Amino acid sequence: MELPVCWSCGETFRWRELLFVVEGKKTCQKCGAKQYTTTHSKWRTGVVVLPAIYIPAICRLLFDLSLSSDLFLTVLVFVICFAIAPYYCQFTEKRQPLF
Ligand SMILES: [Zn+2]
Repeated sequence: MELPVCWSCGETFRWRELLFVVEGKKTCQKCGAKQYTTTHSKWRTGVVVLPAIYIPAICRLLFDLSLSSDLFLTVLVFVICFAIAPYYCQFTEKRQPLF
């Protein structure tokens, strides 16, 4: 897994810069070029983040978890999914639709 690069200058983004990509837009810190997430990237990121919702729900159904275990599992899965998500970003120079 590699972090995405700027489409303009090829600079690799830092992980913490990609934790909050608002509306699929980001600006390169080196050259200032606007970056837009690709359609493929939006779907891949969504698939990576999706387990944050369904894994805790499935565990709740299968196991009799206490409230503290349930909260711990939810937070743990949430943090892992969002920590991995930046590696699935790809940027382009033009805004692309979700579909
Ligand atoms: Zn750049």
